[in-house]
Amino acid sequence: MLNFVFRMFSLGNACLPAEGMQAIPRQLAALPPNSIRLRARVARVGPGAATLSTGEELIANSVVVAVEGRAAAELLGDTISLTGQSTTCFYFPASLSPITQPLLVLNGDGRGPINNLCVPTIAAPSYGPGDKSLVSVTVLGTGNDPDRLLSEVRAQLGEWFGTVAHDWRHLRTYSIPYALTAQSPPALNVPERPVRWQSGIYVCGDHRDNASIQGAMVSGRRAAEAVLKDLK
Ligand SMILES: Cc1cc2nc3c(=O)[nH]c(=O)nc-3n(C[C@H](O)[C@H](O)[C@H](O)COP(=O)(O)OP(=O)(O)OC[C@H]3O[C@@H](n4cnc5c(N)ncnc54)[C@H](O)[C@@H]3O)c2cc1C
Repeated sequence: MLNFVFRMFSLGNACLPAEGMQAIPRQLAALPPNSIRLRARVARVGPGAATLSTGEELIANSVVVAVEGRAAAELLGDTISLTGQSTTCFYFPASLSPITQPLLVLNGDGRGPINNLCVPTIAAPSYGPGDKSLVSVTVLGTGNDPDRLLSEVRAQLGEWFGTVAHDWRHLRTYSIPYALTAQSPPALNVPERPVRWQSGIYVCGDHRDNASIQGAMVSGRRAAEAVLKDLK
């Protein structure tokens, strides 16, 4: 994973869609009408069919299960990765940005709750109202006491940036129990897991490659290629 992340940051630029991460699924939603059914939870899959939680059955030549690891395990069986990494994201509007460049600030102290921090408005001004900078703080895990975690985060921001951080209003906290597939060693000893599950059923998602948007997308491509090959 370290090699992958270093390679990506070395070869290309880190970027954010100007219209937010939602811009990625919105491109899918622009497919021809009736290509996508929204708000439809799949309860079961089998060769040639997926059954929605409403009981409705959808018939198809190929079924591709493109859900996160834990949900894939529920639909396909528990040999798919079940463990996830949780995260908590804190947001603060700031009159004065603590940094001036579009950098990802990593915790080099090895102590305190903050794993990393960035100011997305430096890279993508559309992420803020214009007169304020948006400070985004990431903590690994969700903790048991959100108020205590927030005050520990605030204390660390004060240590890093001084009194300027005391004026930042707390805007929002998002606690995400399953942010991405957990990939502690030796999870990536086989870098690419199979996308053919059984005849007529395929699987993709970050749990098939590595836990990232790149991993999710490249596994989707591998699944699509497998479907096309098998349909020939
Ligand atoms: C805060 C945060 C920051 C991140 N930052 C980065 C980053 O900077 N760079 C990066 O590369 N990655 C980042 N990631 C990780 C990245 O978002 C994931 O690796 C990626 O989204 C995984 O894609 P996926 O398609 O496998 O699963 P998901 O994006 O989780 O999509 C799976 C979808 O399946 C749906 N679903 C589940 N069960 C069912 C069901 N039964 N029926 C129908 N639908 C179902 C879910 O609702 C979900 O919409 C971040 C993640 C988080 C939470």
